[in-house]
Amino acid sequence: MKDMVTLGRTGITVNKNGFGALPVQRVSKEEAIRLVHKAYDGGVRFFDTARAYSDSEEKLGAAFDGMREKVYIATKTAALTVEGFWKDLETSLAILKTDYIDIYQFHNPAFCPKPGDGSGLYEAMLEAKAQGKIRHIGITNHRLTVAMEAIESGLYETLQFPFCYLATKKDIEVEEACSKAGMGFIAMKALSGGLITDSRAAYAYLAQYPNVLPIWGVQRETEMDEFLSYVENPPVYTKEIEAFIEKEKKQLSGDFCRGCGYCMPCPAGIEINNCARMSLMIRRAPSAAWLDEAGQARMNKIDGCIGCNKCKAKCPYGLDTPNLLKKNLKDYREVLAGKTVV
Ligand code: SF4
Ligand code: SF4
Repeated sequence: MKDMVTLGRTGITVNKNGFGALPVQRVSKEEAIRLVHKAYDGGVRFFDTARAYSDSEEKLGAAFDGMREKVYIATKTAALTVEGFWKDLETSLAILKTDYIDIYQFHNPAFCPKPGDGSGLYEAMLEAKAQGKIRHIGITNHRLTVAMEAIESGLYETLQFPFCYLATKKDIEVEEACSKAGMGFIAMKALSGGLITDSRAAYAYLAQYPNVLPIWGVQRETEMDEFLSYVENPPVYTKEIEAFIEKEKKQLSGDFCRGCGYCMPCPAGIEINNCARMSLMIRRAPSAAWLDEAGQARMNKIDGCIGCNKCKAKCPYGLDTPNLLKKNLKDYREVLAGKTVV
């Protein structure tokens, strides 16, 4: 039987396999359309994109041309001005080839937009809703404080927040507060930016939360096939999965980089979102791809860090990013020199 979820007051009810459309930026338009259609044919009905995901909206627009009403589309604006808000919304509507967005979300703002705060952003959301251009108002965030403020404000119908089996007690409190407030909870980073590779465990963990809709940002078609098989046969949380997750938590506990990229760009050109978690990547994924010449050139850039601390200031997880980079570089060089990877 399908696992269904209703996103709080929005009434949007779909199975627990949302489609995160960030990775379709990396494939051709034809391939993206094929993948999106494959997801739709497999039962996926909720698609999440963003103005900031380059041509992701355009690809969804092309995929759903002529069948818009059969799916739910959520997108996002990172605009900080009213003018920017309307420009983003009109652009999204045009390239998604639609006259409405199901959930329009503020994209990870550093503050929680509210009426009368002087930004005019929330008022613009209300106006867009009154005009029928958006159906529901949502917010996405990586910061616990902004997420909690959004829940407490009563102004938002959905929250999109990182949530996976590595969730901390505080993350779980956000989900609980969201449910209590009748807000839909959309889980991003449910595979923790590629660190979680067991989709069955990832799904089963989130299946325990009836109010949570994960949007899987799949990178490979084999992963998509796995999630599509879960539409009809959802994995359940067993003792074995619980034991596996406990083991994973021990390996991935504490201050690790989630690869979100919010600290970028780096003035020294360091690819922080991969380099600051290289020690984990080379131990968890096939390591050869990270250790080749291109990988080494990427890591060697860490030597050029100018210590501006801009990354540290922007990291929503409070990481000491420059030091984390140095630690990862040291370990990487040791691995290249022959240290056994355990
Ligand atoms: S501290 Fe180093 S890594 Fe961080 S943004 Fe500045 S130059 Fe880049
Ligand atoms: S250092 Fe922080 S902001 Fe940068 S990619 Fe990692 S988790 Fe994200």
